[in-house]
Amino acid sequence: MITISRGRVALVCASAFAMAGLAPSPAAAQMQPAAHAHVHGIATVDVVIDRASVTISMSSPLDNLIGFEHAPQTDAERSAAAKTVATLKQGSQVFSIDPAAGCKLKSVDLSSAALGLGHPDASEAESGHADIDGTYEFACAQPQRAQYIDVGLFQFPHMQKVTAQVAAPHGQFVRSLDPAQRRIALSGR
Ligand SMILES: [Zn+2]
Repeated sequence: MITISRGRVALVCASAFAMAGLAPSPAAAQMQPAAHAHVHGIATVDVVIDRASVTISMSSPLDNLIGFEHAPQTDAERSAAAKTVATLKQGSQVFSIDPAAGCKLKSVDLSSAALGLGHPDASEAESGHADIDGTYEFACAQPQRAQYIDVGLFQFPHMQKVTAQVAAPHGQFVRSLDPAQRRIALSGR
């Protein structure tokens, strides 16, 4: 499933590779939207580290975060959705970058058809499943100094696994996170 926000990820990735003087590699090809499937329990996170910024794009089945995948219909569902959206918008509770990088959250862009957020893929509403996507842009003084990013997505009830794809000036790599391993290590391979 391809959404507008993932299209933006592809563009950001392309510019990161251009800056690093690298031709897109097989690893780069894996960052393209085909890698994102709707599997309950699993979310994907794309991290692009540039010269003065870190951009993090998250995509998750809505079920992982709020336990259902339709527009909220009861007070309890509306409350759960509002609480989750508020947490996601705060940013710092979801992605915490190593302070050595001097990053400040610039913007949070959320998109979900079921929750009426942003500009989601119009076809999503017909599938019986629903996603939520988020793009977090950080302005950073020295992004290359970041050794890690802590991911707060496991505070949500049904999140079991996060696959993180990182594109940094020193390379591209994948990290697999779970409730016992919530940190994306940025050094080494
Ligand atoms: Zn689903």
